[in-house]
Amino acid sequence: MATLLGPAEIRDLAELLDIQPTKKLGQNFVIDANTVRRIVRVAGVVTGETAVEIGPGLGSLTLGLLETGADVVAVEIDKRLAAQLPITVAEMQPEAKLTVITEDAMKVTELPQSPSVLVANLPYNVSVPVLLHFLEHFPSLTRGLVMVQAEVGERLAAPPGSKVYGAPSAKAAWYGNWKTHGKVSRQVFWPVPNVDSILVGFDREELPGTEEERLATFAIIDAAFQQRRKMLRQSLSVVLGDSATASTLMEAAGLAPTSRGEELTVLDFLAIARAAKAAPG
Ligand code: SAM
Repeated sequence: MATLLGPAEIRDLAELLDIQPTKKLGQNFVIDANTVRRIVRVAGVVTGETAVEIGPGLGSLTLGLLETGADVVAVEIDKRLAAQLPITVAEMQPEAKLTVITEDAMKVTELPQSPSVLVANLPYNVSVPVLLHFLEHFPSLTRGLVMVQAEVGERLAAPPGSKVYGAPSAKAAWYGNWKTHGKVSRQVFWPVPNVDSILVGFDREELPGTEEERLATFAIIDAAFQQRRKMLRQSLSVVLGDSATASTLMEAAGLAPTSRGEELTVLDFLAIARAAKAAPG
C-alpha cells in the first residue's frame, strides 16, 4: 500500500471533499512524493521526535513526516482539511502518531507536545509572521525546514549588506542561523502557483535578549526598513524621538550615525535598543 500521496490521490481527495483550493489560504498542495521525501530528508526528522507542521492541507508532507516514525502535531485552519487528515492517515499509515489542531496557526500558543522541529510548506501570505510566531512561542523548536516563496526564503537567509536584506532577515536572525536549501519547481504543486518556491532551514541560536529587548529591537528594525531611502537616524526618529537623539543613541551603541539599516546586524539593532533604554529621560 502507498504511504505517500501522488497526483491521483490528491485529485481523488480534493474531489471527495469538493475542495476548491483558495488563494487566500495559500492552498497549493504538493503532488510529488520525491519533493516530500527531499523535505523530510533535509529536515533530518527522526523516529521518536515531535515535528510540528503548519498547514498540513491534504496531508502530502504530513505522511512523509509520519513515515519517519516521528510524532506529528499538525495545525490546520481549514476545518474540512483538518477533519479529513486523520482519516487519510489512518488509511495509509495506521500506526502513525498524529495530532491535528484545527486553528489559525497565528493563534496557537500551546501544543500538546513540545516539538523539536518545525517542517512545513507554508501558506505564502502568512509565511514570515507564522514562522516568527512559532519561534517565539515554542522555544523547544531547535531547528526547522520550511518551503516558502523563493524571494521570501532568500530574504530570511540574507546576510546584512546583501540586496535583499530587510526586516524579516534581521528579525529571523534574532532566533538563529538561516540557510536556503535549493529551489523547488512550481510544477510539484496543485494548483500550480505563479511563484517559485525554495527550502529554507534554521538552527536556533537565540540572542541573549529579554522579551522587552526583543520587542524594542523589532520596533527599531521595523522603523529602520520602513523608509529604506532615508538615513537610518531619520527613519529611527519615529521610535527614538528625533533625528539628533537617534544619532546619539547610535553612537552610544558603537555605530556611526551615518550607518544604513541594510548594513546592521540584529546585534547592532539590539545595541541601539539597549542604548535607548539606558538613556536618561
Ligand atoms: N502541507 C500541504 C502540502 O504541502 O501539500 C499544504 C500546504 S498549502 C501551501 C498551505 C496550507 O496551510 C493549506 O492547507 C491552508 O489551508 C493552510 N493554512 C493557511 N493559513 C493558515 C493558518 N493561518 N493557520 C493554519 N493553516 C493555514
